[in-house]
Amino acid sequence: MKNISRRSFVNKFGMGVGASVIMTTLPSFMVETEKTAIPYTGKKINIALCGLGIYAKRVAESMQGSEYCNLAGIVTGTPAKAIQWKEQYNIPEKNIYNYQNFDEIVKNKDIDMVYVILPNSLHKEFVVRSAKAGKHVITEKPMAITVKDCEEMIKACNDNSVQLAVGYRLHYEPTHLEIKRLGQEKVFGQVRYIESSLGYKTYDTIAKPPVDVNNPAHWRLNKKLSGGGPLMDLGIYCIQACRYILGEEPISVTAQFGTVNDKKRFSETEESISWQMVFPSGAMANCNSSVGYNIDRTYAAADAGSFELSPGLSYGPYEGKSTNGPIKFAPIKQQQKQLDEISKLLLENKKLPVHITGEEGLKDIKVINAIYKAAETGKKVLLS
Ligand code: NAD
Repeated sequence: MKNISRRSFVNKFGMGVGASVIMTTLPSFMVETEKTAIPYTGKKINIALCGLGIYAKRVAESMQGSEYCNLAGIVTGTPAKAIQWKEQYNIPEKNIYNYQNFDEIVKNKDIDMVYVILPNSLHKEFVVRSAKAGKHVITEKPMAITVKDCEEMIKACNDNSVQLAVGYRLHYEPTHLEIKRLGQEKVFGQVRYIESSLGYKTYDTIAKPPVDVNNPAHWRLNKKLSGGGPLMDLGIYCIQACRYILGEEPISVTAQFGTVNDKKRFSETEESISWQMVFPSGAMANCNSSVGYNIDRTYAAADAGSFELSPGLSYGPYEGKSTNGPIKFAPIKQQQKQLDEISKLLLENKKLPVHITGEEGLKDIKVINAIYKAAETGKKVLLS
């Protein structure tokens, strides 16, 4: 039977461009042909995860069954985790490092890329060390906590001819690709206004066993390690959503810190924050992020209609609708898709797309800095 991809199927049946109702169940003949596709058996990108916390676990699980990459190594400061991960994921002893001997990875030809999943302020050190060891790097969001750190990370990767990606998993997620298309292709005309909010009352919903994030010593509550509170951690998704719906960079921001209900936990970082952004087209955005309450949605109002996702920014499944009807895609393994797409490009010696590189991460940090400055001063901050 002729091999037919999902995209060609969707286009053939007139649902590719201009429609936001998406079939989640494929006809049986398509499922059959997808099953018979020849699996890739060539060289894979061997990835070492650096930092084995909650998100690293999620990444490792999602990577199982990846087509273009392998979980090949680990970097951890906890010997017990090294033993557990070695067994669970069949990691060879020679691919296990700690934070002290990590630079020896330069000699390890079996590792192609390091994925840094450490507390935010440590991203810079391990990206720079990875680059110096000649490894491509992915760093989690936020890329770093200062503009200077981002610039040093980009330079280190350029100087060592390796590529730098930021862990923007939603750039590969179909629901988000759809809202990006609806906005940037002006399917409902120019987007004039966006609301985007993300907040979790606690962070421990996915940890097993649960992590005590109420402990004031947790790195997310420590400004030196986190760089800030929910804006750094969660609000970055709202900034991203506004930027990719509009395809524009904000030119000015205003912001306000929210009420601190829990003074013990939030002595260094904000509990909640609201901010407003204005874009060159005149579009405005109103955003909010918090670790004091749960919220997860994005709404865009355009000249001839609107579109929205709720839930829309966390791990999904996402629920959406537009003036044309529901926006619904089958959930995917987000991290697997992200790492496969990145690995495929690396295997083909191609440049990673700018929207997932260090340049993109730097743009977010510039906006985040401006938002903090606006909240601290109570004044509008201009972005060049
Ligand atoms: P976590 O606390 O669960 O894991 C952090 C890891 O870093 C732990 O293994 C810890 O042992 C290690 N570590 C090394 N030095 C440390 C130090 N000085 N203090 C504290 N921990 C130290 O955190 P997490 O939720 O996995 O977040 C890690 C990174 O991943 C952050 O940058 C976060 O923003 C990002 N993240 C991204 C997503 C996403 O969806 N893309 C989701 C969650 C977290």
